[in-house]
Amino acid sequence: MADDKISRREFINKSSAAAGTVAVGAVAGSAHAHDAADYAQSDYSVRTKALISVLSKKGLVNQASMDAVVDFYENKVGPHIGARVIARSWVDADYRERLLADARAVAREDDLTGVQGTDLIAVENSSAVHNLVVCTLCSCYPWPLLGLPPAWYKDTAYRAQSVIDPRGVLQKFGLTLDDDVEVRVWDSTAEVRYLVIPERPAGTDGLSIDELAALVTRDSMIGAERLQSNA
Ligand code: FE
Repeated sequence: MADDKISRREFINKSSAAAGTVAVGAVAGSAHAHDAADYAQSDYSVRTKALISVLSKKGLVNQASMDAVVDFYENKVGPHIGARVIARSWVDADYRERLLADARAVAREDDLTGVQGTDLIAVENSSAVHNLVVCTLCSCYPWPLLGLPPAWYKDTAYRAQSVIDPRGVLQKFGLTLDDDVEVRVWDSTAEVRYLVIPERPAGTDGLSIDELAALVTRDSMIGAERLQSNA
């Protein structure tokens, strides 16, 4: 797991360098100048702040309501919600069947639709098929189930490479798939979001839903990680 995370970070760092980052705040020649990397912000971050600044000055957005939305998705909604859905799908065949048939209906029943009025599709990983989710256009993501997307999900390199060379991207994340495993890449949109049901790890028979949910990682529900055996 630790090696996996390092690989992912390296991938992001390389991607950021390729995409170009914006460094602000460093004063050349100053005795107190910090490393420019201390101030590095992604181009998305800089662009977003500029937009918020302009829209706020024009009175078109309200900072307090934006903060409330961010707080909701940063502190109340997160992968723990999706993890419970996955854990239940592992122990309840009927629930899993309904989730695969109409995930949005299940999310609605469980009051997990949040503020997103989007469709939701669940896809299941198996020994023969591995699903990977991306948004090639921007960063569409099942917020009500997984919270805010990770930085690498929004990265230009991930969005471009995952549809061209998904196996290569997964390898950079530390997951090497056998040649006979079919890889399916799902491109999210403003209308459709995807949830990957990872394979239930071996050695987890008899665990409760809570115990199983604790094993489910955010990245496994995007398809960027395969859960390790608990044996
Ligand atoms: Fe998007």
